[in-house]
Amino acid sequence: MRVLVINSGSSSLKYQVRDTGTNEVAATGLIDRIGEDAGGPADHAEAMEQVAAALAGELADKPLDAVGHRVVHGGERFSEPVLINNEITRSIERLNPLAPLHNPANVLGIRAITAKWPDMPQVAVFDTAFHRTLPEHAWRYAVPDELYRQYGIRRYGFHGTSHEFVTARAAELLGVPLAGFNAVVAHLGNGVSLTAIQGGASIDTSMGFTPLEGLVMGTRSGDIDPSILIFLQRQGLSADEIDTMLNRDSGLKALFGDNDMRTIVDAAAAGDRRAQTALDITSYRLAKYIGGYHVAVGGTHALVFTAGIGENSAEFRAQAVARLGALGVKLDGAANLERSGAPRVISAPDSLIPVLVVPTDEERAIAEATAAVVLSS
Ligand code: ADP
Repeated sequence: MRVLVINSGSSSLKYQVRDTGTNEVAATGLIDRIGEDAGGPADHAEAMEQVAAALAGELADKPLDAVGHRVVHGGERFSEPVLINNEITRSIERLNPLAPLHNPANVLGIRAITAKWPDMPQVAVFDTAFHRTLPEHAWRYAVPDELYRQYGIRRYGFHGTSHEFVTARAAELLGVPLAGFNAVVAHLGNGVSLTAIQGGASIDTSMGFTPLEGLVMGTRSGDIDPSILIFLQRQGLSADEIDTMLNRDSGLKALFGDNDMRTIVDAAAAGDRRAQTALDITSYRLAKYIGGYHVAVGGTHALVFTAGIGENSAEFRAQAVARLGALGVKLDGAANLERSGAPRVISAPDSLIPVLVVPTDEERAIAEATAAVVLSS
């Protein structure tokens, strides 16, 4: 099946055309500066016209069968991908307050396709859906219940498409049935999240009400004492200023001045103390969460690294795993350094828990989920 995968942001639209039979990527592209008056398209509808124009040659002999949308927030309603109709679009729109930067853009992307190709089957694939299996003791915050009832304040978790894809491939690599597979999956990109997998399902994850909770990320702080926000507000900072500070100007960027892991690792190797401190804080926090999730799943069968840093930074993996001695986890030095795009084991033969690198591919997962929904509808 030929699927156009759309990842629509507030001012950008990323797309790929995938063949789900062969897993070929037939086309890929990015339209940015939407609505920014800088020569970019005026709105998402115009951006879609540009995508259609860019794909005209490609689609002339092999038309599209369906469109799959990455939708950030599925709230409590969506626990799996769904075929989009007007009611579904409105439901996604009603979740806008939970993801004010992302869901409105996702809805614009859906409406732009509906306007362009009214009969095209469209599927929404939610970043939160895989975490709908979290038990209440993992999703509920210890705050007054009306915050949950009135505003939906609870933990949702994100990166679900990636965690689900990587979990299935890790089980396959180890030859374990997914239904009996426990794992701790570390998605380490610019955004970072850890998921506790029990019996193939997500039972805890480090991102919460928003993607800000949890581990140290490229530009996000992860966990901090919530009193800091109140303190800053009393110092006169606005909600928007605090939001920007914690989401865009924190994390590795704040600790080192740059959020590119390659630069940080190189600087640390050259003796830069700030870079090494940034790595220490980030790997220490990750190791603490891994230990916690090993307990949460009742003993993990594997520790799995994925995404930009997880797949590519042997140095960061080594520093994180060096903190897991208490769990008997050991890397194989040569296997860790090996460069490969394939799922692989990088732990030493006597490691008590196997350590894996499994490349993620969210577009592939969205294309496959889209094809499955369209075929079964
Ligand atoms: P996003 O969350 O934006 O999708 P990615 O998964 O692409 O992010 O990960 C981005 C991170 O991966 C950056 O910190 C980048 O420095 C890091 N990264 C990418 N390639 C390498 C590499 N070869 N070595 C070390 N880090 C890398």
